[in-house]
Amino acid sequence: MAIDVSDPIMDLIARDRAVLWHPYAAMPMAFPPLAVASASGNRLRLEDGRELVDGMSSWWAAIHGYGHPVLDAAVRSQVDDMAHVMFGGLTHRPAVELAELLVGITPAGLEHVFLCDSGSVAVEVAIKMAVQYWAGRGELRQRLLTVRSGYHGDTAGAMAVCDPDTGMHHLFSAMLPRHLFAPTPEPTFGKPFCTDHIAELAQLLAHNRDEIAAVILEPIVQGAGGMRFYAPAYLAALRALCDEHDVLLIADEIATGFGRSGKLFACDHAEISPDIMCVGKAMTGGYLSMAATLCTREVADGVSGAEPGALMHGPTFMGNPLASAVSLASIRLLLSGPWCDRVVRIEGRLREGLGPAKGLANVADVRVLGAIGVIEVREALPMAAMQAVLVEHGVWLRPFGRLLYTMPPYISTDDDVDLIACAMVSVAEQVGVVR
Ligand SMILES: *Cc1c(COP(=O)(O)O)cnc(C)c1O
Repeated sequence: MAIDVSDPIMDLIARDRAVLWHPYAAMPMAFPPLAVASASGNRLRLEDGRELVDGMSSWWAAIHGYGHPVLDAAVRSQVDDMAHVMFGGLTHRPAVELAELLVGITPAGLEHVFLCDSGSVAVEVAIKMAVQYWAGRGELRQRLLTVRSGYHGDTAGAMAVCDPDTGMHHLFSAMLPRHLFAPTPEPTFGKPFCTDHIAELAQLLAHNRDEIAAVILEPIVQGAGGMRFYAPAYLAALRALCDEHDVLLIADEIATGFGRSGKLFACDHAEISPDIMCVGKAMTGGYLSMAATLCTREVADGVSGAEPGALMHGPTFMGNPLASAVSLASIRLLLSGPWCDRVVRIEGRLREGLGPAKGLANVADVRVLGAIGVIEVREALPMAAMQAVLVEHGVWLRPFGRLLYTMPPYISTDDDVDLIACAMVSVAEQVGVVR
């Protein structure tokens, strides 16, 4: 594409393409990004004056929308006190209050909090906790068991438990640990579960229990690995299996946490408590990068009670006060408002709005859970073509492969959700036409 650098917006995009990597992209990326000048509520304002309705919450994070006055005020007030101090040997009110709040609202038994700088790091910390817990009990257990279609982040330890195909394990095969993979969780959400659905996982667990430190998976909603929703009874059965075989359970709630699936945490659908849980993404309301790994007293005691007597992790920006303060404000804002009604309302609108896609020849599946809507097409359009249709509708979405999906901010109005759904159906209609 020819770029006119006398146009200031085109110039900005050309400069971007000269120097910047983007997520999962070539250098330069295959087609130019849109330049955003500002964002407020659920609107992204582009440099060229166009306005888009946000259907992504900036990858699950901006649940209250952009520029929320309460969150803006929390950041401003905290920056007056301090933006950052190291966490080694020091503490501060925002971190303490955030940890107490997280312990209070997460499933029972999770009592201790490790503050991390991103979701992937939270997963790395969870894995270290599990391995060190067994070391503390005098057992060398360094393997993990997980399920296919999962996604847990992009750092090496997290990548090793992502789906081996979509996670591109072959590219990194010599450097990644070989973990155990059970089939994708079945049945889908709302369908009746029977023990056959978890038989293969149960067998893997029974045969390898002495090596397995933990089972790690995303509860109920598998995000970037396939946007799938599975039955809560599967998760409950998994919890029981982990107890039976004395293996830890790690729940990765980084995408699902803070109401997205219709429960405050997806584990709540199955009324289970994991031994270790990761949260992130929506924790800061989408303002800053922060995540957390929570664990039970038993896990903490196991890690702390034996050589080297410490959890071996400590990022430079651990417990960052700005991120802690805005997380605290975001969670309090969520809990003080009608988040559940909003999510239920969005769920209803998405079901209605995406319904027409069900009859289309090229649509394999349409599914909705909480404030998440997915159209799975049989054949994908090129990303640039999909993006063009969406932007024409005035909507910001970021489909990948055969998945068109939305997780809009909870503040989205019915009209906004209808517009997003309409844009998605429109893309689905064109699959197979524009080729
Ligand atoms: C996004 C995500 C991660 C990784 O979080 P980052 O902040 O991108 O490192 C891990 N697990 C799940 C389930 C996620 O959705």
